Amino acid sequence: MLLVMRADATDAQVAGVCAHIESLGLRAHAIPGAQRTAIGITGNHGFLELSDLEDLPGVAEAIRVSKPYKLVGREMKPESTLVQVGPVVIGGGQLVVMAGPCAVESREQIFRVAEIVHACGAQMMRGGAFKPRTSPYAFQGLGEMGLQLLAEVRERFGLQIVTEAVDLASLELVERYADMIQVGARNMQNYSLLKAVGRSRKPVLLKRGMSATLEELLMAAEYILAEGNYQVVLCERGVRTFADHTRNTLDLSIVPAVKTLSHLPIIVDPSHGTGRRDKVLPLARAAVAVGADGLMVEVHDAPDRALSDGIQSLFPAQLEQLMREVTAIAALVR
Ligand code: PEP
Ligand code: MN
Repeated sequence: MLLVMRADATDAQVAGVCAHIESLGLRAHAIPGAQRTAIGITGNHGFLELSDLEDLPGVAEAIRVSKPYKLVGREMKPESTLVQVGPVVIGGGQLVVMAGPCAVESREQIFRVAEIVHACGAQMMRGGAFKPRTSPYAFQGLGEMGLQLLAEVRERFGLQIVTEAVDLASLELVERYADMIQVGARNMQNYSLLKAVGRSRKPVLLKRGMSATLEELLMAAEYILAEGNYQVVLCERGVRTFADHTRNTLDLSIVPAVKTLSHLPIIVDPSHGTGRRDKVLPLARAAVAVGADGLMVEVHDAPDRALSDGIQSLFPAQLEQLMREVTAIAALVR
């Protein structure tokens, strides 16, 4: 259920309606819009008759939301959401690039890569300190030490930090050190993790599961918003198909589809989306052309020696070229 407040409703009326909803044991999500405030109601498992809410002071109308997702839908909020990561705004028309190595490997490595990322003009730095790896014997990340190094990178270069939390224990640490919490493809349907990041006050980057449908992705985001964290950016990172010329199949058609159904920003990761260095630039160009709000790309100063995902990591000069080209395309399509 969605309550649309009158354009002239006062803050006190909005607060009064929210308090009434909460007194019924439900959760109220007041979302201010350009014209009026909408109040989403969650937690009603179908037992409460809510039609009398329309009579509360300041309410214009009550709308039943037909989609399974409520808070992430455009029905709830017609204006696109802007996600704020420090001074960086995602979804506001400016292309945001998050670049960095797959994993933080050492102080020397992360500073070398940060220098490249900064010089190329990317606004955010990526790099995993907790790595979800297929093999338990593969490099698992530096843990808290990796997060400390990322925090030092922020201090030195002014880059905002996005890094992955793989479980509740790592979330506590990532929340402390990072500017944006990444939920990886493997955890897109880890509901206890989604609820926990929903209780965080840090913005979230939610990656699409490798076999998730659009609706499943939006429902995963709904878990986060339902807990009160509305600062969520979606990320297309490729899905599993029969194709074997790439690691995954990058599904760029999800970008306009998300834009129709949801107000949340969406970025594209052509690195994990293709798994091959030579495919990253062409797909990055396409992602921007199709309307992505940003890109996440892997880059390494010595990809051949990377401890993970070296095959898809760009050489520094390739990131420079990518930044130049996608900036030009963004200027054309916006
Ligand atoms: C990553 O971005 O480091 C990562 C592991 O990606 P994904 O969750 O998309 O596989
Ligand atoms: Mn990687």
